[in-house]
Amino acid sequence: MKHRAYLDHAATTPMLPAARSRWLQVSEFVGNPSSLHTAGRSVRQVVEEARESIAADLGSRPSAIIFTSGGTESDNLAVKGLFWQRQPRLETPARVLASSIEHHAVLDPVEWLASHEGAKVEWLGVDAQGRVSLDQVAEALRTGDVALCTVMWANNEVGTIEPVRRIAELCREAGVPFHTDAVQAVGQVPVNVAEVGAHAVTISSHKIGGPFGVGALILDPALTLTPILHGGGQERDIRSGTFDAAAIASFAVAVHHAVIEQPAHAAHVRELRDRLVSAILESVPGAILNGPAPASGVSPASGVSPASGASAASGASPATGEGPDADLRLPGNAHFSFPGCEGDALLMLLDAAGIDCSTGSACTAGIPEPSHVLLAMGVDEPTARASLRFSLGRSTTQDDVEAVVRALPAAVERAARAGKLTARARS
Ligand code: PLP
Repeated sequence: MKHRAYLDHAATTPMLPAARSRWLQVSEFVGNPSSLHTAGRSVRQVVEEARESIAADLGSRPSAIIFTSGGTESDNLAVKGLFWQRQPRLETPARVLASSIEHHAVLDPVEWLASHEGAKVEWLGVDAQGRVSLDQVAEALRTGDVALCTVMWANNEVGTIEPVRRIAELCREAGVPFHTDAVQAVGQVPVNVAEVGAHAVTISSHKIGGPFGVGALILDPALTLTPILHGGGQERDIRSGTFDAAAIASFAVAVHHAVIEQPAHAAHVRELRDRLVSAILESVPGAILNGPAPASGVSPASGVSPASGASAASGASPATGEGPDADLRLPGNAHFSFPGCEGDALLMLLDAAGIDCSTGSACTAGIPEPSHVLLAMGVDEPTARASLRFSLGRSTTQDDVEAVVRALPAAVERAARAGKLTARARS
């Protein structure tokens, strides 16, 4: 088969050979990890070793790890579970603070709580780079009716790194549980749960080289929350369902590699990403880089979104984009708008040229929606629809980058021509 350039690692990334071997090895073990006999106990040991390993790698404690079916379940568990746990203790209706650029796995449960459970929602706005304002968080926390605050560690579309350490601090001062979705952060920036001080952290396996269908919510053991799945109560009665020992063991291997290889991985993808960004800004007239300008190497051309000083920061924490030299963007992310084009048309033209990338935003019933993330950043609707995300990973090579640089100018020209014809036909 002809070589394809896979540049959609934020959607999912190839499984690591070490994680696959571990999966295969454990899949041969017999025994339900909750059974009391020798077979069950030995599989249970595999689960508990994985728990210890993930906790050690991410600066947490084994008792904090709740295994789930992935990022979506962890986000739902954190948002709904914390809301239901806290609401009876607050004046009703309780409020939920959530950033306006969350993944749908957070956005939709928050909206569901508003429409079904009477939650009042305060959407935290972002600046032109996609950063949440600390002043707005502090202001929103002043009333005593906040059930939880949720702000993602790093955005999946534009790669913006959020000041989650400072937000966690503000929430702790206010006595409000803070949840962060770190699905895109693990492996790209240092993720240490204790250092950041979040009460609940979502992670997912298939984004870092582990198998699909497994993830975790890392929940401060001092907290509890109302379950969303009831049954055997396998995870501290907070989550039920028979452990998938092979997936969990393999996930632990993926986390370990993601954490120990993070500095080298970030340097690898950052170098390729910077080359990609520079080349696109040079060769595609009108291309706009969305999100923060990369801190390294890329000359801020006219096409780079303007920087904004709206996010205050105290102390330095490169993992959370704080400090004078901090990179505010995930090293593997490049996200552009090509005004005059439809993102979907571009995606299909690049697909035909052997390049896999993404528009980064969701479809509703097959109809492409302009990204809520870009709209929240102040991008207009036509420009938001004209967007593409390239996300780089372990397997990305210079050849992949060059393939995009070769194919993109012609694809943009064709998509822009098609866009003009459609506009003319409509008028
Ligand atoms: N959160 C973020 C930021 C994501 O990017 C994704 C996946 O795209 C999810 C949550 C959902 O994770 P999963 O695919 O493990 O359900």
